[in-house]
Amino acid sequence: MSLPFQSAVVLGAGLMGRLLAVTLARAGCKVALFEAGSADAEGAAARVAAAMLAPLAESAVAPVSVVRMGQHALGRWPELLASLAQPVFFQREGTLVLWHRQDAAEASRLARVLANTGAQVPELTPMQTLDAAAIATLEPSLGQRFAQGLFLPGEGQLDNRALLASLLATLQASANVSLHWQSPRAPADFSPGTPGQPDWVIDCRGLGAKPQWNALRGVRGEVIRVHAPDVTLQRPTRLVHPRYPLYIAPKPGNLFVIGATEIESDDMSPASVRSTLELLSAAYAVHSSFAEARIVEIAVQCRPTLPDNLPAIRQVQPRVLQVNGLYRHGFMIAPALLDATMELLAHGHAALARSFGMATSDNA
Ligand SMILES: Cc1cc2nc3c(=O)[nH]c(=O)nc-3n(C[C@H](O)[C@H](O)[C@H](O)COP(=O)(O)OP(=O)(O)OC[C@H]3O[C@@H](n4cnc5c(N)ncnc54)[C@H](O)[C@@H]3O)c2cc1C
Repeated sequence: MSLPFQSAVVLGAGLMGRLLAVTLARAGCKVALFEAGSADAEGAAARVAAAMLAPLAESAVAPVSVVRMGQHALGRWPELLASLAQPVFFQREGTLVLWHRQDAAEASRLARVLANTGAQVPELTPMQTLDAAAIATLEPSLGQRFAQGLFLPGEGQLDNRALLASLLATLQASANVSLHWQSPRAPADFSPGTPGQPDWVIDCRGLGAKPQWNALRGVRGEVIRVHAPDVTLQRPTRLVHPRYPLYIAPKPGNLFVIGATEIESDDMSPASVRSTLELLSAAYAVHSSFAEARIVEIAVQCRPTLPDNLPAIRQVQPRVLQVNGLYRHGFMIAPALLDATMELLAHGHAALARSFGMATSDNA
């Protein structure tokens, strides 16, 4: 893709900032990336996420536009990952949804919502209803513990920390990129388009953009990482729950990410006892060998969220673009936002973004 400008500043080296910086640099643009924290992304929601890529499962809480972005992204991740400096674990082994007998009514409601999504988005692979034997065939280590379940074929997941590290290595190897750590910035620190200044500022600061985008809010999530050599799960497993969908996402090296609470709050204090009990109980109920797992980390972050819970690409002043509101689906939709942003920057129109039903400003 050729760009009608030569240089850009990207603010925020979380998920969206790193992806955009790599893509802009590859298109021949000189990129300066400013991050408030360090190269470890310790302040980014992206570091804590489970990074499940589950458009149909997420349609329980997300509209069809987000599902379409997720489907687009599932197809795009393999080529994006293949172009990076280091390998990143990625799989599409589907999502397993399970429930306990007492949550059967909630599970029926969920099945109806997913069936309705399937009818609206025909390109989704249809879900399958499972009995105990079919669950045991998919995940032998779960035995006959659950009487019923749903299988959502083709859904994916990736290793978020490997992705952040690989994007970093790719940026470090690029002659077009300068990296600035411990360097918080705001769009007002630049005068894009004037002599000696970048042509564009792309603001990907997640919740850090709140001073300039007042409607942003945090939705707190807590996740627990455990090392469980005695547990084998092939794919992310979701447990129907009255308050929020709980999941166990297997990662390489017998690591499992157990998450995630969803609490309307910017609170970044440590995880509560209640959340920790809920998450660990859910894991133990799915597989009793989690009893002997070792807790590696209990992490908290807030998801950057707009009032409609939808992502947006916004231009409120010339040559400054804000990409934000990735909420709980950042990894699931990031390639769709990346492609829509690049289209806007390269061609000044947002046909792709509109095809997803996304809020944007054209003529960037
Ligand atoms: C518990 C939890 C579980 C999740 N699970 C999933 C999942 O399974 N699947 C999925 O798709 N998504 C998931 N997400 C969502 C995903 O992590 C986010 O949507 C995504 O990380 C948002 O990306 P971002 O780049 O907009 O923001 P972030 O990743 O938060 O990055 C923003 C960056 O900007 C930096 N910054 C802030 N202020 C400044 C400043 N003034 N100057 C410079 N830099 C600044 C921050 O330090 C940070 O590095 C989860 C999130 C959480 C919290």
